[in-house]
Amino acid sequence: MGILVVGSVAFDSVQTPFGRADEALGGSATYFSTSASFFTDVRLVAVVGEDFPDEHIDGLKGRGIDVEGLKKAPGKTFRWKGRYDYDLNQAHTLETHLNVFSSFDPHLPEAYKDTPYVFLANIDPGLQLKVLDQVKKPKFVACDTMNFWIEGKPDALRKLLKRVDLFVINEGEARQLANEASLVRAARKIQKDGPRILIIKRGEYGSVMFSGGSYFCAPAYPLEEVFDPTGAGDTFAGGVMGYLANTGDAVEANLRKAIIFGSVMASFNVEAFSLERLNALRLEEIRARYSEFKRLTHFDDL
Ligand code: AMP
Repeated sequence: MGILVVGSVAFDSVQTPFGRADEALGGSATYFSTSASFFTDVRLVAVVGEDFPDEHIDGLKGRGIDVEGLKKAPGKTFRWKGRYDYDLNQAHTLETHLNVFSSFDPHLPEAYKDTPYVFLANIDPGLQLKVLDQVKKPKFVACDTMNFWIEGKPDALRKLLKRVDLFVINEGEARQLANEASLVRAARKIQKDGPRILIIKRGEYGSVMFSGGSYFCAPAYPLEEVFDPTGAGDTFAGGVMGYLANTGDAVEANLRKAIIFGSVMASFNVEAFSLERLNALRLEEIRARYSEFKRLTHFDDL
């Protein structure tokens, strides 16, 4: 089953203690769709400016991603500038330039409107809602957000959360959104406002899922070197949603496997800048790391 994604397609300028990248291809929808394309068909909704090279669009097409919903508009592509210090879990935003996204009015191609799985990647919650409104009876809807929108568009975000099945969010942002120090209490509070399932990403400490009354936690893969964490969250979501769409059934057992696939995909992404590692990734590597996750979390009964 296919996935429709709306989110940013961007040029990122990123500095980490290990190097820097200037104006590299990035964006929440770019990372998400590249990651999900290993598992299922992806339809992309976004806007880029006239400065966006066709070779990047060809690269997405080459992965089988449907780019009919990716528009080129007069103006400049979205730009994000960020810095990471030794605590790679914490991105420090230096600049955000919405550019062509500030006047983006998405109209879904006819063929996109019956997509069963929908991922509303990190972008203005107003745009996330506009896209969701155009999808006919989606089977499963998930979304992400960040502090920029929690602070800037809280009402639209609250409205959106009532309409999603799964909400994927960072630990710090979950606390900020719920105004709660305890993660468990924050999760319960967020779930009360809408999403049945909540996945909280904890960077190098893995992720936790609250689904109905149940709780599942997955570690992050123990990497010796993390080069650039940009896009880890979106790549994680791409693995989660990609696997769920592939199975067509978001039951608890599949959700748990999906989280491991998400963790596998994110662990590869952080090994290099921009989408370099994902673009070179092979299916056998994904399968092998999935099996390693099984080994590293296994323990026997009493
Ligand atoms: P993450 O997966 O959380 O590391 O997301 C990183 C990506 O989010 C980068 O490639 C940025 O281009 C993109 N991004 C940063 N800020 C925003 C924002 N306010 N809205 C949409 N996308 C953003």
